[in-house]
Amino acid sequence: ENAQLKDIISHAKEYGFVYPSSEIYDGLQAVYDYGAYGVELKNNLKRLWWETMTRTQDNIVGIDAAIFMHPTTWKASGHVDSFNDPMIDNKDSKKRYRADVLVEEYAAKFEREGNVGKANELTATLAKLLDAEDLEGVKQLIINEGITCPISGTSNWTDVRQFNLMFSTQVGSVAEDSSTIYLRPETAQGIFVNFLNVQKTARMKVPFGIAQIGKAFRNEIVARQFIFRMREFEQMEMQFFVRPGTELDWYQQWADMRMKWHLALGTPEEKLRKHNHEKLAHYANAAMDIEYDFPFGFKEVEGIHSRTDFDLKSHQEYSKKKQQYFDPEVNKNYIPYVIETSIGADRLFLLTLCNAFTEEQTEEKSRTYLKFHPAIAPVKAAILPITKKDGLPEKGKEIVDLLKYDFNIIYEDAASIGKRYTRQDLIGTPFCIAVDHQTLEDNTVTIRHRDTTEQERVAISELHGRIAEATSF
Ligand code: ATP
Repeated sequence: ENAQLKDIISHAKEYGFVYPSSEIYDGLQAVYDYGAYGVELKNNLKRLWWETMTRTQDNIVGIDAAIFMHPTTWKASGHVDSFNDPMIDNKDSKKRYRADVLVEEYAAKFEREGNVGKANELTATLAKLLDAEDLEGVKQLIINEGITCPISGTSNWTDVRQFNLMFSTQVGSVAEDSSTIYLRPETAQGIFVNFLNVQKTARMKVPFGIAQIGKAFRNEIVARQFIFRMREFEQMEMQFFVRPGTELDWYQQWADMRMKWHLALGTPEEKLRKHNHEKLAHYANAAMDIEYDFPFGFKEVEGIHSRTDFDLKSHQEYSKKKQQYFDPEVNKNYIPYVIETSIGADRLFLLTLCNAFTEEQTEEKSRTYLKFHPAIAPVKAAILPITKKDGLPEKGKEIVDLLKYDFNIIYEDAASIGKRYTRQDLIGTPFCIAVDHQTLEDNTVTIRHRDTTEQERVAISELHGRIAEATSF
């Protein structure tokens, strides 16, 4: 299974999607850069999310809040006191692990082997210990089960300690004036502190939502599995403000809407599942994840949480500024309840890549291609004159000019046409458009379709409409 992830990682690197950050210095753990096709794919995913939120819903508007926020924000949100992971170090390898993940991975092994009872027992015990904040108990569980370090193979563990995931830095130039601020670990708080600004200035009436896309930072201890868990990543979050008492109904509606969105993007139903949280965070009265079947198993892609009035109420307490909304329909002031949908752009990117990565083996040949929904494919069409002579390049460039203002187009006239098709398959371009001598006579071209490799002859005048139709969402 991890062989598949390996193939995807090397494909992503070799074909310009994702590179390790500062690779010439051997990279920086859990930080990645997006290449020429990666940035297009990621932008397309973000744009699609943004448009779904802000355009197809008439009661959602966007904002773009700063990464730095007043430090009290993170007191109010609970992050300073409780945004922690329990960690444990192996004394022999000096490697640090998340204690809960060590146990979960150990339990997952039993599940894979068919011993579901044992797996459930372990996760239940772990949940109980974490709930009771019994770190010594977690350590004893790890030792009693004989869970070993994957590097050293020993179970020579330190105590379990809490580790805050927020990155901090100093603002102010002189030591005495400086104060510690955090890089936001989630984008949501930028929305909460702006709730009244947006409600008043955009003249919103409850129920309404605020959407945001932006960077978030977490000092993750388990930094593995490629871009699944990063230290710098991007979130796409939407907070939907509702009248108290209606939140569970909205929660269901949003869970359904988000699931439909994933299906519309081409993710097969059997690869997605909803996972209800049995154990709720202190601020939530309902929560679920949408999980995707990654090469390393079903894992969270998106969270849908009913956050009650926890955040706004807490900001009201800390800031001493009322965070209430006057609802003319019921003639009452109240602090709205919040349903949030939260998805990582990078995690959605990984889902998309895993889902698109296709290796086909027929008797004659094998073919690898990325089967992206055309709406998110980094390049929509490649214009390929079959030779560099006879005015075909000029004709090809005319076609590029017809399309380039609306679509991301590639032009290529070197190498054999077969090689160029292969290259486009590897970056997931849905349409290859071959320009040949007949084109000069009758203004038709050959479209070669990525998924079927079938070819058809169409008029140049039809190209724009064809691509527009296929790439709409
Ligand atoms: P996990 O349990 O995987 O750490 P979480 O429950 O802490 O995730 P949330 O705080 O709910 O995650 O964040 C919402 C979304 O942000 C997640 O569903 C995921 O898509 C994304 N996300 C969170 N942490 C990371 C990370 N370190 N790297 C990439 N994406 C992340």
